[in-house]
Amino acid sequence: MTGRPSEELIDCVVIGAGPAGLSAARALTSRGRSVVVLDKGRGPGGRLSSRRTGETRFDHGCKELTFQEPETSADLQEWLEADVVAPWCPTLEGGSTAGPYHVGTPAMNQVIKHLARDLEVRFNARVVELRSGEAGWKIIQQQGEVELICRSVIVAIPAPQAVDLLTPIGFEGLDRVKNVSFTGIWSLLIDGPHPDEVGFEAVVEPCPELAWLAAQAGKPGRASDGAWVALASHAWSTEHLEDDKNSVAAALGPICSNILGIEHAATTIAHRWRFGLTSTPLGAPTLVDRETGVAVAGDWCLGPTIEDALQSGRAAAHEIDGLLST
Ligand SMILES: Cc1cc2nc3c(=O)[nH]c(=O)nc-3n(C[C@H](O)[C@H](O)[C@H](O)COP(=O)(O)OP(=O)(O)OC[C@H]3O[C@@H](n4cnc5c(N)ncnc54)[C@H](O)[C@@H]3O)c2cc1C
Repeated sequence: MTGRPSEELIDCVVIGAGPAGLSAARALTSRGRSVVVLDKGRGPGGRLSSRRTGETRFDHGCKELTFQEPETSADLQEWLEADVVAPWCPTLEGGSTAGPYHVGTPAMNQVIKHLARDLEVRFNARVVELRSGEAGWKIIQQQGEVELICRSVIVAIPAPQAVDLLTPIGFEGLDRVKNVSFTGIWSLLIDGPHPDEVGFEAVVEPCPELAWLAAQAGKPGRASDGAWVALASHAWSTEHLEDDKNSVAAALGPICSNILGIEHAATTIAHRWRFGLTSTPLGAPTLVDRETGVAVAGDWCLGPTIEDALQSGRAAAHEIDGLLST
């Protein structure tokens, strides 16, 4: 974080340091714009977070980086060259292999760290209000007294959370943002056996309750331990979205233990991704309110993947750069 005078007029404040917000910030910075990115998280991650319990690390959100054409994606190729991403071909039950999947290394959030390099990104900065002022937008953070003044804003957070910021300012296109929907996803962090003992590294849709169960140890650059992450199926997650974490762990833990051939996992922790995967996208890469200089970005503009987020961020940056030039 640089020491910036509080009265300095910034070209654009980006809210959300996920792939959408960071790709927007990179695009604007490369065009010579001054940009500050604010994120409510304690560190880089968002839906690409990794979580530590003791010495064990779990990628408990985004499970792989999905690109329609991985071989020709400039983003993916650049990440592979920079060693922040590596291919992963887990052994499935029965001995066949799946993938290649692409994962951040040594953890999923390495992609976010890489996208954030050389940018001014402030964490622990939850934005609660956009306030119109004489000089531009005042960005009000939860701590109240923290303000930034800027000419434009890109709101790059999940649509339902964006609605909270956009409603009070009468954002043009608000109704379209309100129509976007997400599927919540439960994930389960399990401290169990090493995959060598189990004989496989991942299972895909093993039962109606689960969409995925994978060992962390087989992924490139990970510690060789017994950490596993399960993702509940869309149907199960939707039905149990409001359940508490303990009852979700109690319901899914034994199912996972059974698949792993153990009686009881040492640790099972449930994590709810309330806005996990886009189910109804906006249908456009971005929306811009030209009167106010506020744009939206996020995977949800186009679909459920990281590639959608990157494209949306760049589209928002392009629009805002055009506005700043007029
Ligand atoms: C369980 C799960 C599995 C997934 N599997 C895949 C997969 O296989 N392949 C794939 O490509 N994608 C997958 N994804 C989706 C992928 O993670 C998203 O597409 C991608 O992270 C979207 O990027 P984004 O920048 O739009 O949003 P996010 O990554 O959600 O970033 C938004 C950021 O905004 C911040 N924020 C929110 N509100 C505020 C606020 N008020 N003030 C400041 N900051 C705020 C958050 O902390 C977050 O860092 C998965 C996601 C989950 C949860």
